[in-house]
Amino acid sequence: MARSTSSSTARIGTVSLVGAGPGDPDLLTLRAARLIADASVVVHDGLVGAEILAMAPRDARLISVAKSRARHTMKQEDICALLVREALAGNDVVRLKGGDPLIFGRGGEEAEACRAAGVPVQIVPGISAAQAAASLAEIPLTHRDHASIVSFVAGQCKGLSEQDWSGLAGVGRTLVIYMGVATAAQISEKLMEDGLAPDAAVAVVERASLPGMRVLRGVLAGLPDIVADNEVRSPALIVIGEVTREPDAALAHFAMEAQQ
Ligand code: SAH
Repeated sequence: MARSTSSSTARIGTVSLVGAGPGDPDLLTLRAARLIADASVVVHDGLVGAEILAMAPRDARLISVAKSRARHTMKQEDICALLVREALAGNDVVRLKGGDPLIFGRGGEEAEACRAAGVPVQIVPGISAAQAAASLAEIPLTHRDHASIVSFVAGQCKGLSEQDWSGLAGVGRTLVIYMGVATAAQISEKLMEDGLAPDAAVAVVERASLPGMRVLRGVLAGLPDIVADNEVRSPALIVIGEVTREPDAALAHFAMEAQQ
């Protein structure tokens, strides 16, 4: 894609909402890598690491709109306005988001804002944290013996205590909770109130695909302690369900052989 600047021509630029995957640059799609390498403006979240940003051209403008639970650097409507403004000025904007743009990524809102302003937009899928964490921790999200339903839930949301979690986890189901570290104690309490057994199997996967990745296993009633005792920090996922029990011997053996 040709790069342009905001000067002379009246050409409208484009916005690409690009999934940057779970963190390891090796897990970018080829399309994402190509778009980053061609970008004139990169607007990125805090979850996108330095190694991936370094793939942008030296003269590309990198704009961080990092958000954290407690601190919002930029409001969502301001981010949408920024994307539109940059594209209308003629720039091809790469909007880089951790994981997949449409899974807890607000990609839908940004795409709508672009379309409303007449800015061409494309969405490039990325490997979402759940997929990366599951594969790298050898947790099969579905398994013919244990789970035929997978749910992705946000653990940090308004009115967590009012949200109905009943039926999301249990026999035959895998529940993956994004943004749940800070509210792990409430989540475990809520799920038990809703009928899930205190000894239901859980795993916490911290920093999937990144240096220092950890996989911590236990049971639902012990989830708050797993998080507190191990000082689990964001980004981390909580996975609940039978599939999180220790990998079976055959898989572990295969993993060992592969490393040799
Ligand atoms: N769009 C992203 C999710 C953004 S919400 C995606 O598809 O993955 C941010 C949450 O994603 C974090 O709080 C954490 O729960 C999860 N997450 C993102 N990257 C992660 C990683 N490398 N390891 C574990 N969890 C991760």
